[in-house]
Amino acid sequence: MPPELAATQNIALAAEDLAETSERRLTPYDTAVAKALWSLAAKARLTPEMFAAHRKGFGVVCHPMSETGVKAGDLVVDFLGEMYPPWAWQAKQDAIKTVQRIRGMRESGPPEFYNMQLERPPGDAEGFSILFVDAMHHNNYAARLSHSCDPNVEVSLKAIDGKYCINFYAKRDVAPGEELCYNYHSCTDSMKEVEAAFCLCGARRCRASYLAFVGEQGNSHVLKRCHRLVERQAALLAAGDAVVGSIPGEAAIAAMEEVGLKLNRGLLRDAPAWLTHYVAHCALYMKREVAKLPRHILADHRRTIEREMAKSKGGWKPPPFGLVSFFFIYFHMGNLNDVVFYSQGDAEIEAMAVRENRLQSMAICLSRVRYMLGRGPEKLPFAAAPPPMRPLGEREVAEKMFGAHRDSMTSALLQAMAPHAVRLFSFSYGQLD
Ligand SMILES: [Zn+2]
Repeated sequence: MPPELAATQNIALAAEDLAETSERRLTPYDTAVAKALWSLAAKARLTPEMFAAHRKGFGVVCHPMSETGVKAGDLVVDFLGEMYPPWAWQAKQDAIKTVQRIRGMRESGPPEFYNMQLERPPGDAEGFSILFVDAMHHNNYAARLSHSCDPNVEVSLKAIDGKYCINFYAKRDVAPGEELCYNYHSCTDSMKEVEAAFCLCGARRCRASYLAFVGEQGNSHVLKRCHRLVERQAALLAAGDAVVGSIPGEAAIAAMEEVGLKLNRGLLRDAPAWLTHYVAHCALYMKREVAKLPRHILADHRRTIEREMAKSKGGWKPPPFGLVSFFFIYFHMGNLNDVVFYSQGDAEIEAMAVRENRLQSMAICLSRVRYMLGRGPEKLPFAAAPPPMRPLGEREVAEKMFGAHRDSMTSALLQAMAPHAVRLFSFSYGQLD
């Protein structure tokens, strides 16, 4: 690259980076500085000899002057940042979005990642849990590594002296000057974000977006059939009846242990009985789902193939595999010649990923519930927090339905009938006249 061009690129990158930092400070002065820097970066990028490519921002490369590069298995760097429990992380994200909305700052566009989700493994004495490590402000260069769908760096979680550390290791030999990348393994339930998150990794098997889509419709066959909102509410109501100090049955405790949710430990330490019983119910559901889901996932793939075969009017041929087990099916992706083998094992892995997802949601939810329940007006200790729902007594039901208060069913009915009653009366009066 000619030196002038390299200099121009560096100016653009530096200006863009400084502009982003200024924007985050949110003062009118910094906003003005950011605007000037964006304009400078745009001018630098408009240089005629510039090759137009999507901006990848900063990345990290193995030192070009290094003699050996990085060897497979070498420790590259530790990931550093500020730690947040899920409830505090979510509160921070909500606050950021609110400020962005109020100040009319760009909300759309690809999300940026300077954070890492750290999971305490289910085998830990305190059980499964999640922490968010935010490397936005307090960090080292580990936060600058880009995503790649075929990375040369992998993330490893290690416990050293009872403390968990996030380490980046070289997955394979990295040559001097080669960019260091790892797989973000990030997902979202927003298709807009997936589309905005163009992947620029350039790998042969690039997934096109550095975000995976985890929509509600995907792999929710079992959920839609036997764990709908009404079943979840019923389970919460039943858990509300749990006797103080009681513990769930043996099978439920085993299901909880399996995913690292431990009685009176970690996320469930000092939990009220109703919450433990509800978590036990969910753990039993997760166990059932992970067993049933692979069958549905395979059936889905089979239907996709049948549809493709029908579309190709007999032009589709299965790949030339000799021994095909009963469970194996052919999964066709896009091009009819490019057939990928999809097995029972793959479906089981996909089902495990669904369970992993549910477990993460459960950990985040429990963290928020723990935080919120201790903050009610009565300031009750967490263990004494009342259930969110309870069955009503006979008298309460009658009062709720037929009482003279504004919210009763009778009042609602009278209110709904009132306009019609007036019209009916006017009509009769008109006839008589
Ligand atoms: Zn990619």
